[in-house]
Amino acid sequence: MNTIFSLEYARQLDQKDPLAHMRQQFHIPKQDNGEDEIYFCGNSLGLQPKRTSDYLNYELSQWQKLGVKGHFSGDFPWMPYHEFLTEESAKLVGAKTSEVVCMNSLTANLHFMMVSFYRPTATRNKILIEDHAFPSDHYAVESQIRFHGFDPEDCMLLAKPRDGETILRTEDILEIIESQGNEIALIMLPGVQYYTGQVLDMKTITEAGHRKGCNVGFDLAHATGNIPMQLHEWNVDFAAWCTYKYLNSGPGSVAGCFVHEKHHSSELFLNNELPRFAGWWGHDKESRFRMENNFIPIESAESWQLSNPPILSLAAIRASLDTFKQAGGINPLREKAIKLTSYLRSLLEQELGDEISIITPNDINASGCQLSLTVNLHDLDGKTVFDRIEAAGVTCDFRYPNVIRVAPVPLYNSFQDAFKFVTILKNSLEIS
Ligand SMILES: *Cc1c(COP(=O)(O)O)cnc(C)c1O
Repeated sequence: MNTIFSLEYARQLDQKDPLAHMRQQFHIPKQDNGEDEIYFCGNSLGLQPKRTSDYLNYELSQWQKLGVKGHFSGDFPWMPYHEFLTEESAKLVGAKTSEVVCMNSLTANLHFMMVSFYRPTATRNKILIEDHAFPSDHYAVESQIRFHGFDPEDCMLLAKPRDGETILRTEDILEIIESQGNEIALIMLPGVQYYTGQVLDMKTITEAGHRKGCNVGFDLAHATGNIPMQLHEWNVDFAAWCTYKYLNSGPGSVAGCFVHEKHHSSELFLNNELPRFAGWWGHDKESRFRMENNFIPIESAESWQLSNPPILSLAAIRASLDTFKQAGGINPLREKAIKLTSYLRSLLEQELGDEISIITPNDINASGCQLSLTVNLHDLDGKTVFDRIEAAGVTCDFRYPNVIRVAPVPLYNSFQDAFKFVTILKNSLEIS
């Protein structure tokens, strides 16, 4: 049975897709021949929503017309601008609005969160991360451990896949927590692993960590805008994410951060039970401009803010969040993503089952949009294949040592994209 591998079949799936129209909301990069690229790189840099330039231009014109008065005027005054982002951000991660804030960059937020949630003692000083964490996360954790005068050799616990395996088993993570939890100050793992696309069981890991008295935080760089989450209900202590991957807010755009409401009380800060690095944007809004130098923390995630934020970047996030809202939010997008990624998986298995392996788990609870592929041919390496598909109009990425990552994104990718991708990949595997 070969009927799924046809342009006609893919076209029918697109016709039945209730979110197909969302593609029109985005600028799709073009190939030299004028056709749309097969853009499967939204896990690295999401595409630009068409409304983004309007939102940015609005703020530029406010600044032109009003100067400093733009802080208090117009439809979206700059003073509370970050508040316009909380409702939709909170929905994406399953949080209360008081628990999320857009600020800084991802790695900066991980550091600021560790200031509060990594408080090593003589007996409890370890951080559990994954082996082959994203380099920035690895460096951040390593440098925090050193900053506190400990040795990363002793204090960095690395969760690894078993020999011959590529995926982290939840049971193995739980075993480390069970056996060494009393020495672990902080568990900091990805929601979705960047290399394999594996979704971790955040709820179970959080419960296990808390049973042993550990703080638990997640890096959601590849999770936010990709899979639905329930950070509040799962009782996660903190999380951070960037907004330029699945959140389509532009290169280097301001990041997001979650702090569970149980940590918001200003007493915790004032008693130094939960210290944080402070700045004026974390200070009580009513008295911020009295300049009294007596820090009163806002009792929300906003209290971790330092500076008045870059409005142009926040405007791009607002444009992106409005685009998510127009699509009905993360749940319908997830429904489409399951269909779209499953279709791509079926095509790959049917057409290229011998030549290509998919290392991303084949379980919808353990995978999001992304599929990570390895090439199994002796005469062709992954990088050569990657170069060929790129030359043929596909944008995806290659991650050393040997993975091609492809991410069909439900907001703007189509079933026809999946079909065309597999056609191009098939041609590229011919040994010549
Ligand atoms: C993309 C990504 C980063 C990037 O960090 P920035 O601070 O935004 O440069 C960090 N960690 C993970 C896991 C990522 O996927």
